[in-house]
Amino acid sequence: MKLYNTLTGKKEDFKPINDKMVGIYNCGPTVYNYAHIGNLRAYVFADVLRRTLEWSGYKVKQVMNITDIGQLTSDADEGEDKMVKALKREALPLTLKAMNEVGEKYKGAFIEDLKTLNIEMPDKMPKASEHVAEDIEIIKKLEEKGFAYKISDGIYFDTAKFPNYGKLGGVNKAKLKEGARVTSNPEKKNPADFNLWKLSTSANLGFDSPWGTGFPGWHIECSAMSRKYLGQPFDIHTGGVDHIGTHHNNEIAQSEAAFDAPLANYWMHNEHLNISGGEKMAKSGEGFITLQTIVKKKINPLAYRYYLLGANYRTPMIFSFEALSGAETALNRLVNILKTMPEGGKVIENNENGFGTKKIGDLLDDDLDTPSAIAFLWDFIKDENISPSDRRATILKFDETLGLNLIELIKKELAPVGIPHAVKKLLSERESARASKNWNDADKLRDEIKSLGFEVKDTDNGQVITEI
Ligand code: AMP
Ligand code: ZN
Repeated sequence: MKLYNTLTGKKEDFKPINDKMVGIYNCGPTVYNYAHIGNLRAYVFADVLRRTLEWSGYKVKQVMNITDIGQLTSDADEGEDKMVKALKREALPLTLKAMNEVGEKYKGAFIEDLKTLNIEMPDKMPKASEHVAEDIEIIKKLEEKGFAYKISDGIYFDTAKFPNYGKLGGVNKAKLKEGARVTSNPEKKNPADFNLWKLSTSANLGFDSPWGTGFPGWHIECSAMSRKYLGQPFDIHTGGVDHIGTHHNNEIAQSEAAFDAPLANYWMHNEHLNISGGEKMAKSGEGFITLQTIVKKKINPLAYRYYLLGANYRTPMIFSFEALSGAETALNRLVNILKTMPEGGKVIENNENGFGTKKIGDLLDDDLDTPSAIAFLWDFIKDENISPSDRRATILKFDETLGLNLIELIKKELAPVGIPHAVKKLLSERESARASKNWNDADKLRDEIKSLGFEVKDTDNGQVITEI
């Protein structure tokens, strides 16, 4: 299996530390608001990675943190904490209890989003608020080893003491000094130095620590939770490309400085989902679309998953509802074809044309080439040399990697998409006629539908509509 490793800038053969179990850490959401569909791209990517490893025979231990405390508004160590912002927005008291409640609310919504997108649940979803003791241990260790120093608003990591700082993605220290990325706190020794423990400013809100009441820095949370559940080093660390420059370089610096071992062997990053104009979809910006927006528009949310799989995870995408609707039409076509194929076939592994489950595995083993896997799926479904029932069985097997949940979709009556309103109306009238066993009307309606260029078939799973 080959994976692109941001650490080396190359596709590499994947070699796990332990051949029985692969450890993966995904930087999880900050639960101060609903996730947007850009965030969810990061987790669909992580899910395809997990499923592909499982398909290749590995057992996977996947850990995804929930940042429910102490996240500042940007990569910089300045500004208001995101969780505090959420308390103010929702007119809640500035207490840890209220912060926990707000975090639980958005964590719950996030887990629902994962389920809706048929994302397998990670094995562990540790909350930052429950791992402050582990953060403090690492900060103490960094202090003992001379990597940390105190200034008026907290404890900072001294990047000048870590010569390899910025190695991930080749972040250049000289460039950092120009102040392009980090707002300057005049007390910091170097512009790239980052916060490990932030002292409270508002109403003594925070956790006790040897340095005073406050919150752990965002980066230290990931170092502590990944080490606790996966050990150090572990195999694969994932996140969006926006985390390469600061968050992940900071995780690397502090974990390696504290424990003299690499943090993770492979670093994988998904590209962004952008809004038209090319800007990254962001929680604070305009064009913030949630999965619920898609559901409310009566679009099948799995069409969003299909849409994402149509591009490699390392390719930026510009979101549009037209493109999503195109994906939904394609997914519906796929499901409708499957509905016409009988059960009871066998899974083809590798026939004389090289068609079968092995091929899907090979495509995904090449750095998760989902667009080629989807294209192959279409070639396969149309291959008349293979019996329809075998095609059905094999495609449902493929779906263990793609996770479109086809097995459930074929049981459902799909909302027809890309079908004129007039046809939809006739379909629903025909559905009622069928329900009241009025076969004459049902046949007449079928003809009317035909005259508009669509064919309707009755299956065990209800009416299936196709373009003639
Ligand atoms: P956050 O909750 O902001 O920490 O983000 C959660 C995950 O979503 C991180 O892995 C981010 O890198 C990723 N992410 C944020 N915005 C986007 C976007 N527009 N497209 C893809 N991934 C994103
Ligand atoms: Zn992280």
